[in-house]
Amino acid sequence: MHPGLDCPVMPLPLTRSKALLRRARKLMPGGVSSPVRAHTQVAGTPPFIVRGRGAYLEDADGNRYLDYVGSWGPLILGHAPPVVMRALRRAAAAGTSFGAPTELEVLLAAKICGALPGIEQLRFVCSGTEAVMSALRLARAATGRSRILKFEGGYHGHADALLLEAGSGVATLGIPASPGVPEAFTRLTVQAPYNDLSALAGAFKRYGDELAAVIVEPVAGNMGCIPPGPGFLEGLREICDRHGALLIFDEVMTGFRVAWGGAQRRYSVTPDLTCLGKIIGGGLPAAAYGGRRALMEQVAPSGPVYQAGTLAGNPLAMAAGLATLEALEKPGAYKRLERRSAELTQGLQERAAAAGVELCCAAVGGLFGFFFHEGPVRNFDDARRADPARFRVFFRAMLEQGVYLAPSPFEAGFVSLAHRRSDIRATLEKAGRAFEKVARMR
Ligand SMILES: *Cc1c(COP(=O)(O)O)cnc(C)c1O
Repeated sequence: MHPGLDCPVMPLPLTRSKALLRRARKLMPGGVSSPVRAHTQVAGTPPFIVRGRGAYLEDADGNRYLDYVGSWGPLILGHAPPVVMRALRRAAAAGTSFGAPTELEVLLAAKICGALPGIEQLRFVCSGTEAVMSALRLARAATGRSRILKFEGGYHGHADALLLEAGSGVATLGIPASPGVPEAFTRLTVQAPYNDLSALAGAFKRYGDELAAVIVEPVAGNMGCIPPGPGFLEGLREICDRHGALLIFDEVMTGFRVAWGGAQRRYSVTPDLTCLGKIIGGGLPAAAYGGRRALMEQVAPSGPVYQAGTLAGNPLAMAAGLATLEALEKPGAYKRLERRSAELTQGLQERAAAAGVELCCAAVGGLFGFFFHEGPVRNFDDARRADPARFRVFFRAMLEQGVYLAPSPFEAGFVSLAHRRSDIRATLEKAGRAFEKVARMR
């Protein structure tokens, strides 16, 4: 059924991918449209993908992979799910963009507002980065304050103010803060370690009256996967309220990933503003920011906070997002995701232990991560202490066996509803072999 998955370990033929990469590098920085795709951290050739179906990817050389990246989060139903493909064909037949309101936006907005306790009203944009930039502008306008607080290792897109000590590709490439960001901007960004309420209290003591907002990934997913410790999100809510700062949940990754209704529903902490992306576009470019009606009505044209977008609310993206959410709403979807991720991380933990390799795993809903670290991993400092060389060996051994993981220890993994129990079991067998290779290092 899935050839390639059961063949023995052998070096991957990547002839066509290598040729494409040579050409791509002349035309695009690093040959890619987004940095982590270049496989720099794992010193390998990124397979050039030609198609995806269900839980599987196929590259330009005909290699097949069981995919745990899922386009970095959006593809919670797997690749090319029939319900989304049908919705897309229907939408495309009517035209691709109108720059005018459509019913699809109303339907998707209603679905999202019904699911997330923190969203009464929202604005669609095209990327998570844009959602975050816009939410911050609104928070600053609403409070009349300029500073914002983010957590080390949190990634919120590539907006100027948020690249300090950021996770994801920024951490992968070891870039502390990007050139081109004026110091005047980063001075307004205050940082604190994730999962550390006493450090947060210190930051508030110093800057409390100047903070417009605290922005947080409620489950950190861009420094590996780090769940919030007990009371962390509640503590955030409380300290923001005490100081008149807004609490922004960046749920671009966690929204509809860790639960129906996102982390805010899973942990019962309601933010003032929420950023969404990834899953709500069903694999097409859509994102959103939303919150209480009184706040959102400060956005133009209801209010003076300006924000706009030519392709925002694009009908194809709305159709794909709506079809995805309708499938996720079916009973049992999140239970199944949760079970698959738990089987995977428990299995990884066992196989690593059997090989004598220290590993620390976490899973929340359809999100998971693992660190080559004895644990616990609670924040960016802990995550950075995980062994990158072991990760590299493990990653390559898995890729050669047809398992496609994120090519960086600072990225989470994603399980989809297309991953079957047999896929997880096959992954664990391969992981066993990969851990043995790790154990033989040095
Ligand atoms: C992916 C991500 C973003 C950025 O979204 P883009 O669509 O890549 O701009 C922002 N915040 C979080 C938490 C993310 O995971």
